[in-house]
Amino acid sequence: MRYLITSDLHANWEALEAVLEHARGAYDQILCCGDVVGYAADPNRAVDWVRDNVRLIVRGNHDKAVAGMDDLEWFNPVAQQATLWTREALTPANLDYLRGLPRGPLEVDGFQIMHGSPLDEDDYIISSGQAMMALGFVDTAVSFFGHTHLQGGFFMRRNGSRQIDQVHPAADRSELVLSENEASLINPGSVGQPRDGDPRAAYCIYSPEERMVTLFRVPYDVRAAQRKIVEAGLPEVLAQRLGVGA
Ligand code: ZN
Repeated sequence: MRYLITSDLHANWEALEAVLEHARGAYDQILCCGDVVGYAADPNRAVDWVRDNVRLIVRGNHDKAVAGMDDLEWFNPVAQQATLWTREALTPANLDYLRGLPRGPLEVDGFQIMHGSPLDEDDYIISSGQAMMALGFVDTAVSFFGHTHLQGGFFMRRNGSRQIDQVHPAADRSELVLSENEASLINPGSVGQPRDGDPRAAYCIYSPEERMVTLFRVPYDVRAAQRKIVEAGLPEVLAQRLGVGA
C-alpha cells in the first residue's frame, strides 16, 4: 500500500491540483493531517475534494476554528479574518463536515497521523526537544504530523533525536528510508501555504512495506491562487506570503 500524505491544504486549490497531478499513479490511498481550510480562497472545493477522496483525516486547528469549536483569541488578526471569511463562504454541509472531523492521532496500517502534537492539534513540533516529548505520547514507531508547514521531521532513539537532514531545500524530492531502530515523526509539509522559504507545494508518499518516505516539492500556479485571495477580499498578506513560501 502506498499512501499520499497531505497536510495544511488551507483552501489553496491550485496547489492541491498540482500535487494530485504530480502524484498521479504513485499512491493507492490519500490521508490528510488536517487544516483543509483557512487562508486561501477555495474552501468549498478543498472540503468537497477531501470528502470525496481522502480515506482518513484528522482535524486541524483551523478546521476546528472555522467550525466554531474554538474561540479565536489565540489567532492573529489575519488568521481571524480568514477564519470568519471562510465560515461565511462554506456551505452548511461543508461546515458540518468540518465540525465532525475526528481529533488525532488516528492510526492506520500500523502508523499514526496527527495535526500538531499527539496531545494537542495546536501544539507545534519544531525542535528536537518537542519531538522527544511527543514521542512519549505516540503509539506507533512511525507518525506523520503537520501544523508547522515545514517539510521534514525527526528520527528518534530513546536517548535523543535528530532532525531529518536529508531534506535538501532546492530538491524536487528527498527519499527517507526509515530505520527499524528509530521512531520517525515526519511532516509532509504544507500543500497550500509552505513556510520553509520554498513556495512550492509539499507532500509525501509513504510505503510501509518498503519503510520508505519520499518527500516532494511541486511548482504550481501561485499567481492564480494569489489573485483569488485578493479578489475574495481576504488580507493581501495571505497572497504575498504564498509568493515567498513564508
Ligand atoms: Zn496549518
